[in-house]
Amino acid sequence: MTLRVAVTGASGRMGQAVARAVMADEKASLAALVARPGSTLVGTPVNTLGGDSDSQTSSLVITDTLSLAGVDVVVDFTLPTSTLANASLCASAGVPMVIGTTGFSDEQLTELEAGLSSVASCRAANFSTGVNLAYRLLAIAAEVMGSESDIEIHEAHHKHKIDAPSGTALAMGQAITDAMGTSLNDVARFDRSAVREPRETGSIGFSVTRAGDIVGEHTVMFGTEGERLEITHKASSRNAFAAGALRAAHFLWGKPAGNYSMADVLGLS
Ligand code: NAD
Repeated sequence: MTLRVAVTGASGRMGQAVARAVMADEKASLAALVARPGSTLVGTPVNTLGGDSDSQTSSLVITDTLSLAGVDVVVDFTLPTSTLANASLCASAGVPMVIGTTGFSDEQLTELEAGLSSVASCRAANFSTGVNLAYRLLAIAAEVMGSESDIEIHEAHHKHKIDAPSGTALAMGQAITDAMGTSLNDVARFDRSAVREPRETGSIGFSVTRAGDIVGEHTVMFGTEGERLEITHKASSRNAFAAGALRAAHFLWGKPAGNYSMADVLGLS
């Protein structure tokens, strides 16, 4: 059976990458592609995005409202307010939802999780398979050598990114402190420019690069006297996130209500 996927954020970088991934997937079909109201894309055929030859998809046009008839799962990479509105529609229609949008406030996250409690959903700040596997590798490294290591996390992104360090870098720090039974808030160091002291034992330093069109790179270093372990992930295209989100969409199909993680999707939990 083919998974019928509705994708939101048709004019966005991720929405387009997910739509293309769905159109290229033999086990999925694009059931709807939704742009923000007022977008010039509304009313245009979806195959202008990727040249899909499937006859069913070629008649589909981009809309400005999310209609869930004939939809098995929604994949949403938009803005928090839009995602919340779409989550409410999914909950009412009993349709599972994959959420890639970031930047929710704590109140919005609470509202989102409560709103989606009646359907299967998966939200991740990073849908790349490699990054989600890296969380597990980092936990193992932290358990084995974390207490004897100086741990440093470096990330690099394109010049347009406004938050720093990235949510993924923080999640990597969280995976490490969870494994070590410490608190990221207590050990994270974001700025050492005013500190005139040797490195604080047990701290985790974060450093950031913003340049050009870097899609996303993260390196975690475990440095000891005599050796250094580095775990690095490099995303070279947004397709990595789109592929992970589509994998999550397949996973959610037919699952009982619940808030699933990418670790669940990848069989790592
Ligand atoms: P973008 O700015 O290119 O796209 C967002 C799009 O959402 C815009 O085109 C906007 O018009 C559209 N939009 C806003 N309201 C809408 C509505 N009501 N209906 C339909 N579309 C609407 O940003 P992006 O790079 O595509 O990223 C989108 C989100 O995904 C951001 O929050 C980003 O941080 C996040 N992101 C997550 C991952 C991940 O793996 N989880 C990866 C990359 C980006």
